[in-house]
Amino acid sequence: MDKKIKFTSYTLEEIQELFLINQIEEYRAKQIFGSLYEKYTTSFDDINNIPKLLKEKLNSIFTLDIPEIMDISKSEDNTTKFLLKLEDGNTIECVYLPYNDRNSICVSTQVGCPVGCDFCASCVNGYIRNLEVSEIIGQILAVQKEINKKITHVVYMGIGEPLLNYNNVVRSINIINRNLNLSERRITVSTSGIVSKIKKLATADLDITLALSLHTPYQYDRIKLIPTARENTIDDLLLACDDYFTKTKRRITWEYLLIKGVNDSELHAKSLANLAKLHKAHINLIPYNPVKGKRYKRPDYNAIRKFNDVLKSHKVVFSIRQEKGTNENAACGQLRNEN
Ligand code: SF4
Repeated sequence: MDKKIKFTSYTLEEIQELFLINQIEEYRAKQIFGSLYEKYTTSFDDINNIPKLLKEKLNSIFTLDIPEIMDISKSEDNTTKFLLKLEDGNTIECVYLPYNDRNSICVSTQVGCPVGCDFCASCVNGYIRNLEVSEIIGQILAVQKEINKKITHVVYMGIGEPLLNYNNVVRSINIINRNLNLSERRITVSTSGIVSKIKKLATADLDITLALSLHTPYQYDRIKLIPTARENTIDDLLLACDDYFTKTKRRITWEYLLIKGVNDSELHAKSLANLAKLHKAHINLIPYNPVKGKRYKRPDYNAIRKFNDVLKSHKVVFSIRQEKGTNENAACGQLRNEN
């Protein structure tokens, strides 16, 4: 296993300290940071303004740990899915989502996922390991280089349950904020609902958006969709969300995958609306994207509209997610390691 220091797991001040220890001039750290984070360089060898000897020294002490792009698939709407190979040969996926006003990336946090949601493609091949901080940052750097643009928003909604890789996820948020100069308000962490970690995150002093994959207002339904819902009951989750809101003053988004015949009834909509008002949540409706080998289906247009009308009549704050990447399996819940 590589014992080199993972460069992108550290802030500028920390790298400056490491440079001092390794007898590298401190000012070089800023030059290298400028190249990596602002000019989309992904190798020490490609940095123009440092001497060859220093490049050799950097390569002998540090690794940038940037995943290798194995495959790129682009949707009609330019949403682009990247298949990435990690240093140990495992593969993950991430998605670039271009909008008129922002360049967003959806990153993975684990190789596979241990949660095993019944509707999701990401856990089909099981769970292997957590991603390192540098592997989370590496997804952004690899994509920035490929698109030759700065990423402006980061969503932790790719493969894996971010809160089950808590320390590395929180550390990567700090690195994105400081090294990529991206406000925490532009970062969203989506969780299937791990009560103890939501409570911990509430005290982490982060200004991010937390998105909870609620998917149904009923505990009975939820345990069929999300196995970990047995230990993380809706009642406990809602208490944790209230605590999060009280401590952070940040309104939580409830993600709601609308699935035909499962959670798209009028009764579901009414109960959801009442809960959302009570807990001051914002609802994000996501019509289900079909996944190969899964029995779930997307509701038809009329069912989606009816659900929408019930929420509207209850004056709930909600939105319907803009569809992106569906024809390239790059949409929510569709990421998987197909290799
Ligand atoms: S939906 Fe999220 S938490 Fe559930 S299995 Fe898929 S990646 Fe894991």
